[in-house]
Formats: sequence, C-alpha cells, structure tokens
Amino acid sequence: MSIDIPENKSTLSNSDSLGSEILPGTLYLVATPIGNLADITQRAISVLEQVDIIAAEDTRHSQRLLSHLGIQTKSRAYHEHNEDRMTGKLLDDLESGMSIALISDAGTPLISDPGYRLVTQAHDREIKVVPIPGVCAAIAALSAAGLATDAFSFEGFPPAKQGARLHFFEQFSEQRQTMIFYVSCHKIIETLKDMQTVFGENRRVGFAREITKTFETIKRMELSALVDWVESDSNQRKGEIVLVVEGDVEAVTDKTQVDHYLSILLAELPVKQSVTLVVKLTGEHKNDVYKRALELKPS
Ligand code: SAM
Repeated sequence: MSIDIPENKSTLSNSDSLGSEILPGTLYLVATPIGNLADITQRAISVLEQVDIIAAEDTRHSQRLLSHLGIQTKSRAYHEHNEDRMTGKLLDDLESGMSIALISDAGTPLISDPGYRLVTQAHDREIKVVPIPGVCAAIAALSAAGLATDAFSFEGFPPAKQGARLHFFEQFSEQRQTMIFYVSCHKIIETLKDMQTVFGENRRVGFAREITKTFETIKRMELSALVDWVESDSNQRKGEIVLVVEGDVEAVTDKTQVDHYLSILLAELPVKQSVTLVVKLTGEHKNDVYKRALELKPS
C-alpha cells in the first residue's frame, strides 16, 4: 500500500495527490473526531479553512472544534429538521460555484448522521462530491473488537421499542458476517438482553465505549458475561457505545459441509447438477454454492 505524503506539510500542497486545492462548486464530506480532537486530519483542516461554507449538523457544537482549530469559515445549520428546506438551498449555492463542506457532530457525515439527501441530489445534479475520510466509530470499533473483519455489515441503531428490536435482530440471527450496531447507553442493558435472546448467550460481542476519550473501554466477551458485567458496573452504561457482534459461526461451519458435498458430486456430475443437489442438501444460497463449485471444480 502506498501513502501520499505532502511534500510541504505546512501548506499541505502536493500536486500529485488530491489534497489542498479547493474546487469551486464542490461538496466536501469531512470526517471530524469522535472524542479526541487530535484525530482530525490535516486535509480536513485545510478543507474546512478554505471552503465558502461549512454545513454543520449543530453549528454550536461544531463551533468548539472550529474554534479549537482557529477556523473562521461561516457555518450553516443542516440537520434532520431543516433538511428539506436546506438541501435545495445548498445545492443552488454549489451550482453557483460555492464550495461547501458538510460535517456532522462527530465522525463521518451520513453514517447514522444527516446528509444522504444532499449527497444523492448532488449526484442527480452532477455536482462534484469529494470525501475527506477520517474517523468513524463503527470502523474504529470493528478494528479493535477481535472479531472477523473480512465481511461485515453496519446496521445503525436498533429500534427503541423491544418488540421491534427483537424482530430487527431476528433478521440477522443466521448472518455469517460480523454486525456493527450503534447503541444508546440508556438502552444498553435491554439491547444486550435482546441480543442474547436472539443470538444466544455464547455469541461473542465487541463492546467499544467512549472510543478515543478518557474512559475508553474496549472488550470482547460472550453475551451472557457481557450482560452481567454491564449490569454490575454502572460506568459501562455511560457515554457512547458501539457493539460488534460475531457472525453465526455455525453457518460458517456449513461451508465445510458444502465443500464436502461438492467435492464428491463434482467428481461425478457437471457443475450445474452438483450445485442444484448441494443447494437442496444444505439450504445454502445458490450463488454462493455455484461460486464455490467453480473454485473447487477439478481442472
Ligand atoms: N457519524 C458518526 C460516526 O462516523 O461514527 C456516528 C454518529 S451516530 C449519531 C452516534 C453514535 O455513534 C453513538 O450513539 C455511538 O453509538 C457511536 N459513537 C460515536 N462516537 C463514539 C465514541 N467515541 N465511542 C463509541 N461510540 C461512538
């Protein structure tokens, strides 16, 4: 992997890589820290300093970060309550040649935060959209959880009401991929208990609380132990939390079964017939079995 390092760090100018130059009529999606202010990138600072307008989820909240960085760019509120009205206005400003940076209260805009409407309509109107990557709580938690990272899904916040929440988790009960959820600290016990009902007490979960902040806590435990620990320590019910849930390991084990059947059948039958039989025997998805059959097929 190669990294572009700006030749002149003080101005961030680097003609070989995207970086310092602010383009007119461009929407920048700028990631900001989720706790530790030192996690802002040099490129984010440079963009926030130079754009015409910063559209912020909460202007007062973002002002703390901007003041800390000595940035004086004008900001405008852009949140779920004025999204309808403001989207058109911001798009008109972009079309008139202004450059705009969208930031949320913390982390990457659009990740359980406002901005979807703005970005999708920017594409409809062929306005240039540029991501300025940085922190995202989901990815930070995933990287530290000690669970499989090769395939994962981000599922945002589970529903607040228990019935809906159980139903929501049930759709993932046999999912093989690791799952990432954002959880309010006020709902953490109920949420963990519902997870235990659906995923079972032995399912392993990464618990990432207050990432990058003073009371950062990163643990990986089986669900029953995690419920006990969070119930017994009220500190674990404070602050911001991401839960990373292990995929269904037994479903993963089924892969071995698929391979076993395929290896026998492929020695005797054409791919299509082998796949049909294995799908019938295992209930696995046809596309997955077909892909695997092509990998295993004797040349
Ligand atoms: N856009 C943000 C991002 O990129 O991560 C997420 C915004 S969402 C409204 C807020 C949720 O993100 C919190 O309820 C929590 O689940 C998670 N989160 C944000 N900051 C966090 C932190 N420092 N530690 C743990 N979780 C955090």
